[in-house]
Amino acid sequence: MSDDCIFCKIISGAIPSKKIYEDKDVIAFHDINPAAKVHFLIVPKLHVESLQSCDATHQQLLGKILLLAPKLATEQGLKGFKTIINTGREGGQEVFHLHVHVLGG
Ligand code: AMP
Ligand code: ZN
Repeated sequence: MSDDCIFCKIISGAIPSKKIYEDKDVIAFHDINPAAKVHFLIVPKLHVESLQSCDATHQQLLGKILLLAPKLATEQGLKGFKTIINTGREGGQEVFHLHVHVLGG
């Protein structure tokens, strides 16, 4: 948990979100500024800044997030989708809590 992180605040419930999935490790919610008909984010509950901050200890969590993408995309009615992980300021990342974008439709 990072006090000034917007996604940590969503995870704690301090900021509302349009949640589509939650378990002990992960939350997924619709992007507030959708770039496609369906656009949601899959976010680990653990505060990790970005893919660049990940190491072997995050391997299982990363795998879980990737496997959730097609499951949740199908539930959202998508037959295909794009996944994006912006990494670092120069990679277009704006929220420094790891997340996978899923877009389609
Ligand atoms: P990125 O550029 O990969 O860091 O993307 C951050 C994404 O988070 C953007 O697509 C934002 O629209 C989205 N976002 C920011 N604040 C919120 C929020 N409160 N609820 C849902 N999505 C958000
Ligand atoms: Zn965070």
